[in-house]
Amino acid sequence: MKIALIAHDQKKNEMVNFMIAYEKIFSQHTLYSTGTTGARIMENTSLHINRLASGPLGGDQQIGALVTTGDLDLIIFFRDPLTAQPHEPDVTALLRLCDVYGIPLATNVATAELLVKALELGFFSWREVVDKYKENN
Ligand code: PGA
Repeated sequence: MKIALIAHDQKKNEMVNFMIAYEKIFSQHTLYSTGTTGARIMENTSLHINRLASGPLGGDQQIGALVTTGDLDLIIFFRDPLTAQPHEPDVTALLRLCDVYGIPLATNVATAELLVKALELGFFSWREVVDKYKENN
């Protein structure tokens, strides 16, 4: 599964702790992230992350592009609802694309935990079938 991880600054510690807690599960998947989020995760775990640009510099848009091309299966995005973000339009656009393409998206740790449990149980395996179908057509 291809998974994107994003955390706003006030949520980065929460993201790091979340990734430490579920490192074993995430180690079985291909991970993408915005720049600083990925750097923090790699500093604190042994996970490899394909880092894109920092969010305010276009990273959210790059993740949106991956959604558009069908190259992401799940997004965990710990948003900070209490701080204005300079790249709010990019954030909104990414959330919209998740709805356009039906990509599972968690915007807080409670939902993220449910998605990770579902991932562990194989609930998203159908997406691999879709990916194989797309490759062959
Ligand atoms: P960052 O971007 O991981 O580079 O900090 C996250 C964001 O603010 O969208």
